Amino acid sequence: MKHYLFILFYLFCNVFIYAFQGSLWVYLFCFLMFSAVVIWGSFDIGLGYFVNSITHKRTKIKEVALTFDDGPTEFTPKFLDLLKENNIKATFFCIGKQIEKHPETFQRIIAEGHTIGNHTFSHSNNTGFLSTSKMIEEIEKCDEVLLKSGSVQNNLYRPPFGVTNPNIAKAFRKTHKKSIGWKCSFFAIRLHEDEKKIYQKVTEGLKKGSIILPHDTSEKT
Ligand SMILES: [Zn+2]
Repeated sequence: MKHYLFILFYLFCNVFIYAFQGSLWVYLFCFLMFSAVVIWGSFDIGLGYFVNSITHKRTKIKEVALTFDDGPTEFTPKFLDLLKENNIKATFFCIGKQIEKHPETFQRIIAEGHTIGNHTFSHSNNTGFLSTSKMIEEIEKCDEVLLKSGSVQNNLYRPPFGVTNPNIAKAFRKTHKKSIGWKCSFFAIRLHEDEKKIYQKVTEGLKKGSIILPHDTSEKT
């Protein structure tokens, strides 16, 4: 996908510069367009602009993957109860700091057979601006907590906020992580929306093999 975008953008700029030769506005316009493409690529994980993420499974079976981000929290046990009742296995992308706050809940996630993934140590709001070494530190520190807490090591990683950029891409390569994205996200439907709306948003975007991203940080989810 990213290659098509680059080629399209390159051709577009060339035609534009040729058509309006010499005008400073043309260069400014191209620069703004380029910035827009980079920002779009940074925030849309499905685009695979900087990092190739797994965003769905190709399948003919009616199946979806539930992946919970940002826990464990005080709400996670309720999620675990529901999963157990319905005999469903999910993946929990945990934050290192949260595991330290809720060690018993983390042990329950493991004991009940769910898969664990890395979601950085501190889930920094500045994730998009961190250096490669700081990003590596965030990933490795979370791995340390995961291992210390008895989780099996794997390469599953979910980028906080779905943000990717060249520094993050380098950190993935150095730490041998595989980025797991999503197709159907609760991202935009956080605390202010009611349960019915959340349910509606999830089911209307659902396809065979979708990866669904709820957060175990709210009772409404
Ligand atoms: Zn997150």
